[in-house]
Amino acid sequence: MVVRVKIDRQRCVVAHFCLFYAPTIFMPSLPEGKPAVMEQFRINGKLDEGIIPDSLYEAAKEAEKNCPSGAIKVYRE
Ligand code: SF4
Repeated sequence: MVVRVKIDRQRCVVAHFCLFYAPTIFMPSLPEGKPAVMEQFRINGKLDEGIIPDSLYEAAKEAEKNCPSGAIKVYRE
């Protein structure tokens, strides 16, 4: 099973809960510090979309649940 993660960077208010709950999935990106998917998980180098291992699903769901702007979406496919 594949786990897809998406960040809506327009919605993001840079609260950084995602970095707290899922530091192995998300990293801050320049210039404004909005989160990006870690390089090794990115799809075609895109900052806002990635495929993560199923072992990180729970951490990703915690980030999704705690994001104050609803900017993170996590799907098992
Ligand atoms: S928790 Fe949500 S609002 Fe905060 S930095 Fe992450 S994506 Fe942006």
